[in-house]
Amino acid sequence: MKFRNFKMVDYVVYGRGSFNQLDEIIAPHRKGDAPMIFLVDHYFEDKPLLSRIPVRGRDKVFAADVTYEPKTTYVDALANMLKEQFGTVSGIIGIGGGSTMDLAKAVSLMMTNPGSSADYQGWDLVKNPGVYKVGIPTLSGTGAEVSRTTVLTGPTRKLGMNSDFTPFDQIVLDPELTAGAPHNQRFYTGMDCYIHCIESLEGTYLNEFSKSYGEKALELCQYVFLEKQVWDEECDDKLMMASYAGGMSIAYSQVGVAHAVSYGLSYLLGTKHGIGNCIVMNHLEEYYPKGVEEFKEMVVRNNIDIPTGICAGLTDEQFDTMIDVSLGMKPLWENALGKDWEQIMTREKLRALYEKL
Ligand code: NAD
Ligand code: ZN
Repeated sequence: MKFRNFKMVDYVVYGRGSFNQLDEIIAPHRKGDAPMIFLVDHYFEDKPLLSRIPVRGRDKVFAADVTYEPKTTYVDALANMLKEQFGTVSGIIGIGGGSTMDLAKAVSLMMTNPGSSADYQGWDLVKNPGVYKVGIPTLSGTGAEVSRTTVLTGPTRKLGMNSDFTPFDQIVLDPELTAGAPHNQRFYTGMDCYIHCIESLEGTYLNEFSKSYGEKALELCQYVFLEKQVWDEECDDKLMMASYAGGMSIAYSQVGVAHAVSYGLSYLLGTKHGIGNCIVMNHLEEYYPKGVEEFKEMVVRNNIDIPTGICAGLTDEQFDTMIDVSLGMKPLWENALGKDWEQIMTREKLRALYEKL
């Protein structure tokens, strides 16, 4: 048995208003006049947060276009633009949801690694540490703030740059930044965390490390999405910690059926991560009976409509593409169903599941 020796985020600051410390936090990491680059979710383009960014000297703020989930072509374009414009930079600071944080991690790595980010989609392919990188979530749930991956859609696959160089050097967890998130978006991204917990806790890879974080994150999700009657500051505080703990839980285990199936949807139809997971989770009674029952209760309690019929009218070829992508996620299936997963999740069975969505 080989135990995973995983790299974690170096520094964490948590608290309402901790964003105000950003200037002080990044100061020691400024290298001469090389600028800090702030990559900010385009949602904030006309919002007051923009004026609170500690811009100094040649620093520059760029809007991260997250209309689509991050693509390798976008990462490469950003990194090349920065290299041309500035030569080197002191650091990349990603402020936004999972998409912006993933972009920031990937661009940081591409400032110091040759070629295209597509060359590094996989496990431990990144050769050099990136430039200093900071993650500042404005949505809670993905766990991208703590993970050792950055999920990218490339020319041939949707796969992360998983490496010890990928985690942030610093994260700033300020729940105030999530206050303005729309109800639906908050739910979908929050459910990403809930689903991480269920898949981790019900998986065969589970150990006490993952379980401790997973149970805590689950409890926080249950509190905000079932017990609380109205959304308030306490919910933002708790969901931000749920996201962190959920991410820590899967760091030492794996996700499962909902994610494996959702990756197929996302690859073929461009379905976004959070909503895609919800669409799939809605039909997974067979695998996660208790979790799905509770998930459905959360959907009703929070007045959310989960889309249905999204696979209606797809061709056999399209179903095959989704099945190929999904079955390619071997560790997810093994975690969910055990070593003999291939006997359990046949192509026919998976096709029947996709047809229900
Ligand atoms: P997102 O980052 O894609 O953002 C969703 C929408 O919310 C966007 O329109 C964005 O502009 C908006 N938004 C962000 N913050 C807001 C705020 N405070 N107020 C109002 N609107 C706001 O959503 P997400 O669910 O956080 O992230 C999904 C992405 O994360 C996917 O690309 C997925 O692949 C990735 N992901 C990565 C990991 C990882 O470990 N690296 C894990 C899970 C998911
Ligand atoms: Zn997820």
